[in-house]
Amino acid sequence: MAIVVQKFGGTSVADASKIRSAAARAIATKRAGNQVVMVVSARGKKTDELVALAAEITDNPPAREMDMLLSTGEQESVALTAMAVQALGEKAISMTGGQIGVRTDSSHTKARIREISTVRMRQALDGGSIVIAAGFQGIDDDLNITTLGRGGSDTTATALAAVLRADLCEIYTDVEGVFTTDPRAVPDARKIDRISYDEMLELASVGAGVMHSRSIEFAKKYNVHLRVRPAHSNGEGTLIAPESGNNPVVTGLAIVKNEARVSLIDIPDRPGSMSVIFSRMADRQIPIDMVVQDVASEGLAEVTFTVPEGDLAETLTAAHEAIAEIGAGQVQHGTNVSKVSAVGAGMRTHTGVAAQMFHILGEAGVGIGMITTSEIKISVLVARDVAQDALVAIHAGFGLDKAIAESPSVGHAAAESAVASTAQSDIEKVVVENLASMEDIVVSEVQFDVNQARLTIRGLPDEAGVASKLFGAVAEGGIMVDMIVQNIGRDGLASLSFTIPRTDVDQCLLLIREVLEAWPDAKFSHDRKIAKLCVMGIGLRSHTGVGQQMFKALAKAKINVDMVNTSEIRISVVVSSEQGEAAHRALLATFGL
Ligand code: ADP
Ligand code: ASP
Ligand code: MG
Repeated sequence: MAIVVQKFGGTSVADASKIRSAAARAIATKRAGNQVVMVVSARGKKTDELVALAAEITDNPPAREMDMLLSTGEQESVALTAMAVQALGEKAISMTGGQIGVRTDSSHTKARIREISTVRMRQALDGGSIVIAAGFQGIDDDLNITTLGRGGSDTTATALAAVLRADLCEIYTDVEGVFTTDPRAVPDARKIDRISYDEMLELASVGAGVMHSRSIEFAKKYNVHLRVRPAHSNGEGTLIAPESGNNPVVTGLAIVKNEARVSLIDIPDRPGSMSVIFSRMADRQIPIDMVVQDVASEGLAEVTFTVPEGDLAETLTAAHEAIAEIGAGQVQHGTNVSKVSAVGAGMRTHTGVAAQMFHILGEAGVGIGMITTSEIKISVLVARDVAQDALVAIHAGFGLDKAIAESPSVGHAAAESAVASTAQSDIEKVVVENLASMEDIVVSEVQFDVNQARLTIRGLPDEAGVASKLFGAVAEGGIMVDMIVQNIGRDGLASLSFTIPRTDVDQCLLLIREVLEAWPDAKFSHDRKIAKLCVMGIGLRSHTGVGQQMFKALAKAKINVDMVNTSEIRISVVVSSEQGEAAHRALLATFGL
């Protein structure tokens, strides 16, 4: 008998009639000959209300008690849903995270799952009941109630599907599926039929609130095919599954409206500075993004990165600790900025995607504060008051409102297997089997590339259209640009570094020289002797320990890092080519590869 996991989000169980229709859906699935596990979230805005209530009592609620409080939202939902199923004539049993046996670590309000017992769920399923599991919660070794972080019911559902080796995992929500961007922000957004794990992971990580990013980590690690579907209709929704080969260049966009920018300036340019910064952030589990290290002048370096504004106070404390430990430097920060990101697996093979995005922003008159790019993602930091316009412009500019020609084939939901045991590569299997705990970090490979060169341009004016002109010229030459980082320095001028294949350097220099004539103050340099190292895996940015381990290993080997790039599937660094081999060995050893 097939096992189907069905998760219902807050709006999908908001009131009695919605609970009844969720129950009816589960019952229909059971009567079609399946065993059914429902995972339910707190009703409507319940979790927000509980957070607000706690804030009325104290500014600083203890995390353990917060978990005790927030977990009640899901407890209410499971009981009501079980009553609804029973009233409609089927057997049902509700279970809290603890009753199921969802074991987590003890990091309250952001706990990670260690293991899940299937015993109790299987007994109930075999006894003919629909199991109704509380999402978002677990217990630690001391039986304290823990929660997985906001939006965590998606992660519960995917994890249950993984351990039960479910045939289908459906995520019922209040939209028709995963869209090219939040359909509430951009009405022209279009539903995507199929999206790859990597794309969804990156989108969720940079602001697409439709799925909890950790649920996609689980899905990819354990090869769980997810279907995001509307609870209010019979729409087919979106399949989240391995890459199908039909990759649009840009699949979707996401925005983090309230982002903040933090700079550590005047720090010594020597091995270890980056390690200290990443370690102090990792200690507090702050996932930093858009890391830009300015190539040092006069022995002093500057590191800038972004964090969600909600993490700013803690980040500044951690940044001051880092400065104290490094022994020099200052901390600066800026708010009123937003991060807009474009994600697409086709970027791996297409040139000129970044150039096109900068062109769209230039045409729209939007200035770009910071730029970072990684394998399948481009992020720009823009002023908050123009962020929405930027999102709309990029969406239209990439034609995301129009149906794509090569529409990927989408099977009928019931015909798919949620856990495709044979599709998983042997390497992935070994990695997963070696995990001590379900949410452990997966680092699968360290890539070493000595065929790249770096170009740096300083002294560029901070105005709309600059990046567009530069990368437009490079794209005309058909040159594949890999890492791009841009930052605005203290002097108000932009500096920009990027990597390209070494064989294209001469051509690129010619193209750029022409464009730079417009900006007489701009100076450029290039370095053919670089090595690029990429740590590949799943969930690398949000598992803050990966960056920490990487930079610690490089610092220990006395290797200076020139450029850094973070994403969920790849963290890259550029070092000098003399140090490349040593850096490669250090990273392989650190990750036990
Ligand atoms: P649930 O309570 O079902 O978990 P969420 O509110 O967490 O629902 O997620 C659904 C919401 O995510 C949608 O209502 C939509 O506004 C928002 N959203 C953000 N980005 C996207 C996207 N790319 N596609 C679809 N929905 C999105
Ligand atoms: N109820 C929790 C929240 O609102 C978990 C979830 O809905 O996924 O964040
Ligand atoms: Mg959600």
